[in-house]
Amino acid sequence: MAQARPGSGPGGSDGQQRRLGSLLNGLRAAVLGANDGIVSMAGLVVGVAGATPNRGALLIAGVAGTMAGALSMAAGEYVSVSTQRDTERAALARESWELATDPAGELEELTEMYRARGLDEELAREVARELTAHDALGAHAEVELGLTRYRVNPWQAAG
Ligand SMILES: [Zn+2]
Repeated sequence: MAQARPGSGPGGSDGQQRRLGSLLNGLRAAVLGANDGIVSMAGLVVGVAGATPNRGALLIAGVAGTMAGALSMAAGEYVSVSTQRDTERAALARESWELATDPAGELEELTEMYRARGLDEELAREVARELTAHDALGAHAEVELGLTRYRVNPWQAAG
């Protein structure tokens, strides 16, 4: 499993960004889940209340509905985030294959991408060379694929 690389220590703006990304992703899932849960729960409880005056049945329907809703949301989140993670892994595998087979071409590619971001030729080349020496795959993942070191965790999303 590709977790945080040894080169990327915690703290600093990188760490804060990662935490913010994680927080926002969690918040998004929670809002979606809560919204979905409230609507279907209200519908279920009102429906059962209309069918029977029995409070026990109402309670059971409420609890069962809550659990079913939570499990279905968790499964949905797990699948969605797993798919995203698999896609990222495939892209990273391809990138490391390219780095292994054509290091010069990849260095050129990275240089071009830093130039496109506004660095002049000389500086772009220097940045690309140093980042390649430090963590080639990490640099390509970030600049070329838009992946940061923060990895989505499907179990966290499901929870
Ligand atoms: Zn590349």
